[in-house]
Amino acid sequence: MKVTIVGCSGSYPGPDSPASCYLLETDGFRMLLDLGSGSLGALQRHVGIYDVDAICLSHLHADHCLDICGYHVARTYGPGAPYPLIPVYAPADAPRRLGAAYGMPDEPGLETAFEFRTLTPGAFEIGPFTLTAGLVNHPVEAYGFRVANGTTSVAYSGDTGETDELVKLAAGADLLLCEASFVEGPDLPTGLHLTGRQAAEHAAKADVGQLVLTHLVPWNDQATVLEEACGGGYSGPVELARSGVVYDLS
Ligand SMILES: [Zn+2]
Ligand SMILES: [Zn+2]
Repeated sequence: MKVTIVGCSGSYPGPDSPASCYLLETDGFRMLLDLGSGSLGALQRHVGIYDVDAICLSHLHADHCLDICGYHVARTYGPGAPYPLIPVYAPADAPRRLGAAYGMPDEPGLETAFEFRTLTPGAFEIGPFTLTAGLVNHPVEAYGFRVANGTTSVAYSGDTGETDELVKLAAGADLLLCEASFVEGPDLPTGLHLTGRQAAEHAAKADVGQLVLTHLVPWNDQATVLEEACGGGYSGPVELARSGVVYDLS
């Protein structure tokens, strides 16, 4: 499996990266985890804009889903359009919320380009992938994912505070893409995001092969985020996500 960090900026695009988007490829099948603000642009450095086979949205905060609107334009009106519908796995309210963001009437909404499928916790097949979705600890309905192709697996936290669900999803995964939005400090809110140290604690409990810290908020000093992660008791390799980096897990 090939995993490309398209966007790893937390909460809004930064100067060096769009917001959340990860491209997973196996056997010629291409799936996106999230399509956050700005990511549709950088995506085109890695794959043809019409060559995406499925999209999974972890939750409906703008930094994880909003480029669906621009992608609808490309697939509905671009040269050669309309393109075949592609599945978008997302929380139940996605068609209404994303249609409203675009300014679409309820009918047809964005469904000239996408076939929305409601995410619920559990495992199911998407092309050659098996995706397991689990509810994580965030103020809105939010999922973490585990994606496996039979030989390798990657886990993605989405946005979450501390949760055993992430440990379960990531158990034994080759790679954990884990959010590290906060730096340590007094009075951090709970049930929202993780620090680098907490990300590493989850990676240690799940015994993953490699930890990549992501959802890096531009106002943080990322060296501090990494340093805090190194104090989280995880003994495997840890690094900061960077837009454009590819992990070949095969
Ligand atoms: Zn976010
Ligand atoms: Zn969020």
